Amino acid sequence: MSTKGSITFHPRPFDQWGLGLERPLLIAGPCSAESEEQVVSTARAIAAGGQARILRAGLWKPRTRPGSFEGAGKEGLAWLQRAKAETGLLTMTEVATAEHVEACLKADVDLLWIGARTTPNPFSVQELADALRGVDIPVFVKNPINPDLQLWIGAFERLERAGLRRLAAIHRGFSWFERTPFRNSPMWEFPIRLKAAYPELEVVCDPSHIAGSREGIPELAQQALDLGLSGLMIEVHQDPAQAQSDAQQQITPAAYTKLVNSLLFRQALPTATMQDRLEKLRDLIDQLDEEIAQKLSSRMDIASRIGEHKRENNVAILQPERWEAIMQRQLRFAGHLGLSEDFVRDYMDAVHRESIRRQTADPDAVGVEGSPRSRANGLDP
Ligand code: PEP
Ligand code: MN
Repeated sequence: MSTKGSITFHPRPFDQWGLGLERPLLIAGPCSAESEEQVVSTARAIAAGGQARILRAGLWKPRTRPGSFEGAGKEGLAWLQRAKAETGLLTMTEVATAEHVEACLKADVDLLWIGARTTPNPFSVQELADALRGVDIPVFVKNPINPDLQLWIGAFERLERAGLRRLAAIHRGFSWFERTPFRNSPMWEFPIRLKAAYPELEVVCDPSHIAGSREGIPELAQQALDLGLSGLMIEVHQDPAQAQSDAQQQITPAAYTKLVNSLLFRQALPTATMQDRLEKLRDLIDQLDEEIAQKLSSRMDIASRIGEHKRENNVAILQPERWEAIMQRQLRFAGHLGLSEDFVRDYMDAVHRESIRRQTADPDAVGVEGSPRSRANGLDP
């Protein structure tokens, strides 16, 4: 996920968009526009709560498997127009093809987003950029479904080259093979790395698609705000149980308003002087260090358990080939991420030493550091 060190596009913060958007930007609305009544009454209830600036609603729904609700399509554009006229909320929808772009521009949709299944396809992103050439509509780019920072950045570069200047990111989590309590793993290090590389880029969090369930949303929303992200996009439906897509993760307008009222909004940071910039970056570093420490601690706990298990079963603990395999795997993996071989070796050796210390630290042992076992190489790491 290296950003290759160079600034490759030039994001502008909300206050340069000319729309009066402010941080935190609050975007709410149904996953899908399903009917005129559903869009308009959901929008009215959201507006009545006074906690959103933008109404989202998907008209063309990208579905992983065919056969489920694929959206109302063009017909729904008029519903968005009516919702806007009645509530004053700005409107926003997802575009995946040039045809979608054309229809949205004709219908005066205020903002667009590119979905997580479109961002990873450079052909599709280029098609959208070409269709948007010369039109300065704000575009939000969701992270690609897979954790690949370069693809995310590439989408911004394509849009900027087509002349778009009002660009922002939406962090909606990543598909990942590790078990996670959520539908998508948040992998906060990705939005953090993106902001570190492009401090002016507004990154909004979509806790609904990360959580995949109503219950998970508040914690993620608060975390996003604590990390200094620029706002939230939350799926809100007047009758979530009956929703034709993402029913488990949508919340009612009343629950949405209550949720936003319960969140702690950090003091807006003063505008970018050098010192502020430094502080923002230091906050990001502190957060990452905390996450790294948590992960290391879980890793050490597992190593201790392996140590216990081996002792109980009287199994030999010397396994140099296992350690070598881990080192090789890490060198390959970390190499892809732009980390140097020396650094990875030193770091992994330190991790190994600490694992060995833990594995040999049985309750009866005294002076573990100096015990002969701790000096043996290749304990199960
Ligand atoms: C959506 O916003 O409803 C959607 C389809 O999201 P994503 O592209 O993040 O899966
Ligand atoms: Mn959805």
